[in-house]
Amino acid sequence: MKMPTIVRRGISVRGIVQGVGFRPFVYALARRYGLSGTVRNDAEGVSIQVEGTPDDLERFVRALEEDAPPLAVVESVLWQPLATLGDREFRIEESREGLRRQALVSPDVATCDDCLAELFDPTDRRYRYPFSNCTNCGPRFTITRSVPYDRAKTTMSGFTMCSDCRREYEDPSDRRFHAQPNACPVCGPRVRLLDRFGQELHAKPEDPIARAARMLRGRAVVAIKGLGGYHLACDPFDEKAVRALRGRKVRQDKPFALMASDLAQVEEICRVSSEEEALLTSPARPIVLLERREDCGVAEEVAPRQSTLGVMLAYTPLHHLLLRDVGIPLVMTSGNNSDEPIAYRDAEALDQLCEIADYFLIHDREIHMRCDDTVIRTAGGRPYPVRRSRGYAPAPLRLAADFTRHTLACGGELKNTFCLAKDHHAFMSHHIGDMENYETLRSFREGVEHYSGLFDVSPELVAYDLHPEYLSTKYARELEEAGLPAVGVQHHEAHVASCLADNERPAEERVIGVALDGTGYGTDGTVWGGEFFEGSLQGEFTRRAHLEYAPLPGGSAAIRQPWRMALAHLIIRHGEEETIKLPIAAVRQAGERNVRLIARLVEHKLNTPPTSSAGRLFDAVAALVGVPGSSRTTYEGQAAIELELIANGPTNRTYPVSLRPEADTWIVETQEVIAAVVEDLLSGRPAPEISAAFHRTMAEIIVTTCDELRRENGVNTVALSGGTFQNMLLLNQTTDLLEEKQFVVHRHQRIPANDGGLALGQAILADTVIREKLTS
Ligand SMILES: [Zn+2]
Ligand SMILES: [Zn+2]
Repeated sequence: MKMPTIVRRGISVRGIVQGVGFRPFVYALARRYGLSGTVRNDAEGVSIQVEGTPDDLERFVRALEEDAPPLAVVESVLWQPLATLGDREFRIEESREGLRRQALVSPDVATCDDCLAELFDPTDRRYRYPFSNCTNCGPRFTITRSVPYDRAKTTMSGFTMCSDCRREYEDPSDRRFHAQPNACPVCGPRVRLLDRFGQELHAKPEDPIARAARMLRGRAVVAIKGLGGYHLACDPFDEKAVRALRGRKVRQDKPFALMASDLAQVEEICRVSSEEEALLTSPARPIVLLERREDCGVAEEVAPRQSTLGVMLAYTPLHHLLLRDVGIPLVMTSGNNSDEPIAYRDAEALDQLCEIADYFLIHDREIHMRCDDTVIRTAGGRPYPVRRSRGYAPAPLRLAADFTRHTLACGGELKNTFCLAKDHHAFMSHHIGDMENYETLRSFREGVEHYSGLFDVSPELVAYDLHPEYLSTKYARELEEAGLPAVGVQHHEAHVASCLADNERPAEERVIGVALDGTGYGTDGTVWGGEFFEGSLQGEFTRRAHLEYAPLPGGSAAIRQPWRMALAHLIIRHGEEETIKLPIAAVRQAGERNVRLIARLVEHKLNTPPTSSAGRLFDAVAALVGVPGSSRTTYEGQAAIELELIANGPTNRTYPVSLRPEADTWIVETQEVIAAVVEDLLSGRPAPEISAAFHRTMAEIIVTTCDELRRENGVNTVALSGGTFQNMLLLNQTTDLLEEKQFVVHRHQRIPANDGGLALGQAILADTVIREKLTS
């Protein structure tokens, strides 16, 4: 009999392969194929040596990629032949710290089915223990202080494992083998219930969670410490409870999210498609925007005037216990005062939220990184993110091309995220928030430092928005003064680049980029927001068309008070005196005084820059038809969102669409659109029909302009980006019409179309600019 040949291979696996049960998986696999050797974590991922027959090794390598644990993201498996050593067994070795840290920290992961089963099993030693986790689930990013990911470098370092936990931790065949946050009721973190003065309520015979649940059923608002920060919870079916929360939180109209214990509970209040179900139940457990059932009983105040509800499933054992004890879904909104970032430290939470919450359900596992919930919806059956944060960050986005240098992009002002990039990875940060106060800026600075350390990125280039007053821009300028090369990137060009990178498009692909949003600093110093570009990631984008400029009376005041835009349009067309006489509700509501005020501003161009913003055009129409948010908005884009909500579905009726050439660009005439809206109003056409026709008109504007640009240069691919494309009616109509005309359409799918996705495009374009400078 011929002895089979024995060979040895060194295998290096890269990607998200640490803290996700990869080594036990490799161990089990090696034993299945009768291989000997070793596996260990290294600075770049996991390194394996195996010895066996070539056939078994072949099968082993294939299984490494194909059967990897659910949370692992295998980016590459490289191998090389080694001399055989004649090992007898397969062993898991201790980690070694390498010189370069490239191992990726996993995002936080929702409780797995196995842990959940134990949680509700009265015979299990972790029965009702709110901090149970294993290698397949639990906190990761939010508790990690530094890398390599190891218990000592997490906020679990202060808890010493009991002998039972230690045994699980050291047993390669156990689900908790090297689960860094492993804990149990004997040795792990504990939950406590406090009143709003910080006094503990001793809850025997009930446990604190059961007692909190009872309080929630009794109209209380409870602050709950979660994975990435505090939530504020209340009963969503109780109008008074919701109204109380809204009042105390000083949040007038912005929708609250809900949390449900399981899918069945979600389906009682919303319609759920199979794609939405997949998102809801994914390990990231995002908030998914779902169509609400009219008779669902959820109080109107939860999401005023919205047709959707944002719902997520419970994602920690604590949530599961609470939700099951309460027996109904709960409002679960970020624990903050209206404009501040979400509270995540205990003292800070007690201080900030004591006027809002009646009770605090807290625990002693520290949150190292603040991280809000992710918000996502589906468009055309695919994910379409609104906010990419917990469960997704800090997983890197793979890109089609490599960065030439380590790059930091600082993002925009609202919905800020930053981006650190190197090689073919972009680390988009979790949601930082609106950079309008010191607290958010601090959060931004800490975030940049933390990511730089975690992913070993030392910026050699910094990218920023052209707006000189953005705090993110000022931060970049500080770095520039300290000697770092810095590149300003135009806001809407960054949007288009983000969309292309999001879709992993090759750098040389030429596209027509359509960037529609509320506000962005233009290269001519005006306020842009309705822009059409032509170009590629390889070089410059050229502005080829834009919406006609309209006055923005009072600058940012016009953003908060959309009626100003409506009046400005009317005054330009009809003059001050005629406008006052127009029998339109918007004029009556504004009153003569305001018409005269706006007329002064427009006439003398007092703090009234020209704007080509699509968001402001939506505002003008929203104010003309009189949606509630048009008198004063309480959150970004409110009037436009309300305009979308009242539209009575897609229509074929449109207002006039025309382009006129000016120098080497096309101007999209919008005054004719407004004039037609006014005519409709005067003839008594209902607002829902006007809204529908306006949406159709915007879609026609985009298609007509793209068609014109294609005729000139033959570019057939369109990228849609900017916050206005969070409007589903517009997005879907535009896509359909473009595709009817044989355009190839790219839309966002991994990062948001709004400013939350801006930093990625900044990073890529800045890198391109620097590369060209060096080669020319
Ligand atoms: Zn688990
Ligand atoms: Zn223990």
